Amino acid sequence: MPTFRIHPDPDLPGVVRVVRAGRPEQDALPTAELPGPRVGVLAALHGDEPCGLRAHEWLLEHARAGTLAFTGGTLVLVHGNLEATRLGVRYTPDGYDLNRICDLAFMETLPEAEWGYEHHRARALHPLLCALDAGLDLHSAHAPTEPFAIALEGSLEVARQLGVDWVTHGWEEASDVGSGVALARVSERGRPAVAVECGGHGELAQAEGPAVRGTPEQVAIAVVPRFLRALGLWEGPAPSAERPPRVLRVHSILGKPSRAFRFLRPLRGFERLEAGQPLGSDGEREVRCPIDCVALMPNDEVPLGKPYLYLALESA
Ligand SMILES: [Zn+2]
Repeated sequence: MPTFRIHPDPDLPGVVRVVRAGRPEQDALPTAELPGPRVGVLAALHGDEPCGLRAHEWLLEHARAGTLAFTGGTLVLVHGNLEATRLGVRYTPDGYDLNRICDLAFMETLPEAEWGYEHHRARALHPLLCALDAGLDLHSAHAPTEPFAIALEGSLEVARQLGVDWVTHGWEEASDVGSGVALARVSERGRPAVAVECGGHGELAQAEGPAVRGTPEQVAIAVVPRFLRALGLWEGPAPSAERPPRVLRVHSILGKPSRAFRFLRPLRGFERLEAGQPLGSDGEREVRCPIDCVALMPNDEVPLGKPYLYLALESA
């Protein structure tokens, strides 16, 4: 098994590189010159979703113990939003969702004096993200949901191999989850990029027989070696036979029509919905489901205009 050295980035807090042992002069190299393949494992881009940080600890424990089965060159462990993690919130009170601004489009429109913490963080992480050969981004949800994978464009086959029951794709065309996400820096160069929603906080995933189950932390730890194995960069024993996931293509989003809008009853992720079925109301107007579909990430507490529901269709 290869041995690894662990290098916290001296300039970028929250970034640790696990580098396959090689020449000592590699220690000082910038990310783009570290031995490849360079695989990013992103965690806590949202500060209240700590499951990926536990996966980082798991990788570091194995690297220290000499039992890390990674056969690539460098693992790049990124703790995305340090300040929001410290505060226990999705993003800082005066800031912005870090996982929507990583294309740096704000640099054209927002004077630097008005940048929040996340704008500075997005710019600082940008060169690192643009140098990755593959990326896995670990999230969790506040509402109950089964774990599911979000395959960025070109990564459906890799996402099918992560052991989660549901794989979704088509987000770029049909939703607000597009070029602003951190992993788009990887997928837009044609490299494998998958995000995983590792389940809801404080609950056990209870689907009928998913290969990967447990708390979000346990799901995150189970997904990492499967992702690396799917890339051909993991030499540990293969997981036992897993049934293929169900695949969904994102069709459209429903934006919150008024501040008072609430679901008629709590919706669950992956619940089947029928065209015409009443979804919610603000006391005056009732919203009905426009198509037969599957519900993704229902959340009626989002700000006005933001998606409270993603609609998806079964896909091959
Ligand atoms: Zn998240």
